[in-house]
Amino acid sequence: MTLPRSLNARILIGALLGIVAGALITATGPLHAQAPQTLYGARLIGTLFLDLLRMILIPLVFSSIVVGVANLRAHQQMHRVWTLTLGFFVFSMAIAIVIGLGAAHLFRPGEGMQLAMFADATRDYQARQMPLPDYIAQFMHGLFQNPVKALAQGDILAVVIIALFLGIALVVGGERYRNLRVLIEELQALCLMVVGWIMHLSPLGIAALLLQLVATQDSSLLGSLFDFIIVVIGSTLFHGIVVLPLLLYLVTRVSPLRFWRGAREALITAFATSSSAATLPVTLRCVEQHLHVRKDIANFVVPLGATVNMDGTALYEAAAALFVARLAGIELDLAHQLIIFFVAMLSAIGAPGIPSVGMLSMVLVLESVGLPTAAIAILLPIDRLLDTVRTAVNVEGDMVGSLIVQKLADRNPAH
Ligand code: ASP
Repeated sequence: MTLPRSLNARILIGALLGIVAGALITATGPLHAQAPQTLYGARLIGTLFLDLLRMILIPLVFSSIVVGVANLRAHQQMHRVWTLTLGFFVFSMAIAIVIGLGAAHLFRPGEGMQLAMFADATRDYQARQMPLPDYIAQFMHGLFQNPVKALAQGDILAVVIIALFLGIALVVGGERYRNLRVLIEELQALCLMVVGWIMHLSPLGIAALLLQLVATQDSSLLGSLFDFIIVVIGSTLFHGIVVLPLLLYLVTRVSPLRFWRGAREALITAFATSSSAATLPVTLRCVEQHLHVRKDIANFVVPLGATVNMDGTALYEAAAALFVARLAGIELDLAHQLIIFFVAMLSAIGAPGIPSVGMLSMVLVLESVGLPTAAIAILLPIDRLLDTVRTAVNVEGDMVGSLIVQKLADRNPAH
């Protein structure tokens, strides 16, 4: 058998094979003697693939942002690109939250469901309690850190901040620091070369991750939460398939098909890894090489977006809060829904792009309106499944954002 030449096609085949093999193991699991070995192998390969992506992540984020900021200034566009980028992030997350709230109202998942049926799970789960002021204090505190510590511990938001400072300092310092700027540019080019090598393993890594996901999912639980799962996946897909492409088309005239063709590698990687951060090397590659976003814009918007811009997470948190309220028999009024709106946005911004963090910030959202935080024990077992689509849409938002920012920044360049 010959393998297709294009990496895109191989990734797609890997994803499908992983899902089918996982479903086969679920169907025949206990009868199938090879199942434990297959799962072991899948875990090994899946972890190896994630480790490789994480290995390159921090040097790549650091060098990309420094280079991105340094080059933006060269184009006299820094201020404009900043404003457009943050403006787009807030705008698209706001739409996502409205869709999440709207869908939860329209389809009313959880109606008539008994919270008692999850009593055991609720009792077993000790939710991490953190009131909103504490969360804000902790969030602010985490922003500024010793660079060596942040780099060594892989604290991505702190690394983003350090890189922004260094990038700005390089610009202000001017020609005198040219050598350091060139060195960091070369570091980034080398990181991207390594990403290219890691991507050769991606079809296998993605197959392994999806096999594990499908084979270890508890199907009886999926049945009882079916309505909620469908509403969340449906509305997240609506945002990803209709809203984001529409925004993209209206501003840039790039057709959805052209966009998806260029974005496919990153979307599938995000789906399989459930981590915007782990996907970042692939996202950057797609945006620069397939979607032809200029390096200076891509290097700035995409790494920042991977930590700050999370449409899928924001949508999920809003919809899930309403779901939990319904389970607890509480109808939330408009004021409470507005609080959910702001806290969902804040916690999506603060959440690092790693698997299931949306779950932790969920505690914060529930707490902000006085809903029972222990109820997230209901959501926890299905989180890995929902995290797939949510992360893919988070990453899609970053790619759409970089195309839109590029278009708008070029429309009326600042003089
Ligand atoms: N897994 C998501 C991401 O990395 C974050 C979340 O859990 O919502 O983008």
